[in-house]
Amino acid sequence: MSNDTHYEVLARKYRPQTFSELAGQEHVSRTLQNAIDSGRVAHAFLFTGARGVGKTSTARIMAKTLNCERGVTHEPCNVCPQCIEITKGTSTDVFEIDGASNNGVDDVRDLRENIKYLPSHSRYRIIIIDEVHMLSTYAFNALLKTLEEPPEHVKFIFATTEPHKLPITILSRCQRFDFKRVTLPKIIARLREIADKESVVISDPSLTLIARKGDGSMRDSLTAFDQVLAFCGNTVGDDEVGTLLGTVDRRLMAEISEAVFNGDTQATLEGVKTVDMIGYNMRQFCQELIEHFRNLLVIRSVKKPEDILDLTVAELDELKRQSGNISALDVQRRLTLLIKAEAEMSYATFPRLIVEMALLKATLLSPVVPIQELIEKIKALETGSVHTPEFAWKAERTPTVAASHSFEPVQSTAPAPRPAERSVVVPVASPVPAAIGSSSWGRFVNFVNEKQPSTGSVLEHGSPLKEETGLIEVGFPAGSYYVTAGQDPDFIAEVAVLAREFSGHETVIRVKAISADAGATPLSLAEKKKSDAEQHLEGLKREVENHPVVREAERIFGAKITEVVGI
Ligand SMILES: [Zn+2]
Repeated sequence: MSNDTHYEVLARKYRPQTFSELAGQEHVSRTLQNAIDSGRVAHAFLFTGARGVGKTSTARIMAKTLNCERGVTHEPCNVCPQCIEITKGTSTDVFEIDGASNNGVDDVRDLRENIKYLPSHSRYRIIIIDEVHMLSTYAFNALLKTLEEPPEHVKFIFATTEPHKLPITILSRCQRFDFKRVTLPKIIARLREIADKESVVISDPSLTLIARKGDGSMRDSLTAFDQVLAFCGNTVGDDEVGTLLGTVDRRLMAEISEAVFNGDTQATLEGVKTVDMIGYNMRQFCQELIEHFRNLLVIRSVKKPEDILDLTVAELDELKRQSGNISALDVQRRLTLLIKAEAEMSYATFPRLIVEMALLKATLLSPVVPIQELIEKIKALETGSVHTPEFAWKAERTPTVAASHSFEPVQSTAPAPRPAERSVVVPVASPVPAAIGSSSWGRFVNFVNEKQPSTGSVLEHGSPLKEETGLIEVGFPAGSYYVTAGQDPDFIAEVAVLAREFSGHETVIRVKAISADAGATPLSLAEKKKSDAEQHLEGLKREVENHPVVREAERIFGAKITEVVGI
């Protein structure tokens, strides 16, 4: 076949000639056939949809059905002179106009002149305008006049990939049909049929690659098939197809994604190197990676991925295997990196570098624990069904983990805050240190505080220089308010009375001014309080860090203690 000088491209050779041959547009065929059967055929149709999905083919089938000599039935006979002429494009009653090249008002005027006459030997004069959105405004206006008062013997069929560019006045006068992208299995089935008719030996994976190249367009898939056949002849090897179509081998794609999820930077970058060496376009590679990760994401996110993904059963099984236990969130985070990289590549001087950086980031991402799993773990901790050695103490004291309550709202579908940002309140068993030191001086100041708070508040700032039976010597910072207050005779007398009451002995009170550099002066209680509070907080931190609940939370969440707040 390949050496035939009259080689007819597959898209033309296998152009569907009946509604039943029209793959993937059953909804359109059925409605049109019903209209024909019931004799209610509109006078203007609008076929919309992506390129190569069968719009023009349907227009021709429709034209043949309306003008077939065997009568208007729901399929053309394809053997009468009318049908044959339309198939060949030589019918004098069917006009096919390309809106892109005949977009002027004159063309439409000619058309209007033309449709005035009755069909020469058919039922209808049928005007098919492809890419109708390309018509000029004047041409549309001219066309509109005809559409408003269409002659009985005229039918219009418009086709467009961009219906939004049509004036509403035109749209409202047409019966509209939206053509769908042809699904992958349907394209593959059609390719297999053609391969058999052409006696081509080709594997299913290769046909899948070719079908996918068409991206929902039957015509583009057939063009890709032409390209492969032109190179390979009638026996097609799998490796050749991938190279010819510039599609990255699925195995290579699987290897790279596996390396990314395994955190294997070496294998990830080697994968990119291989892709680059084979000479693939880096941006296209990135796009294919995005599609690959998107497929994995859908598989990990929904119950019936087959309803959403345009994949063959074999491909779906393979991807399910690859996605294993990876969480949807983990896939999504990597997908986001790739999408960002792809956007940057359009103006990048080093596209390979962009892909490498994105993939490295993706490879080094640490896994996240799904929030539901966290909740379950926490619930398990609460009920004690997780019995780790650290929790052996649980029987003795039962801590309340405030975190378990904080996590409750997460069960709604609202995005959950990162667990690490949650504060976890863990009651710690250590006693708060006595308000003031436990020394005899400390006990005395406490005693004074209770009896005479104003006196006690001054004493708190004094350092006990001497504590003997019958003598207390207190130092206050030189020049401070406390020296003045402390040396006041009334103050001393009051302290002396309280000291006798406290100790049962007559006690002499001496007050001294001490300089800051006086050396080893004992701390005043106020200073001690401050330092004790610091030490207490340090102790609390240590205790919190070593607290089994906190350690377990750190382990589960991968969290870090950022702050210990006294409560
Ligand atoms: Zn016919």
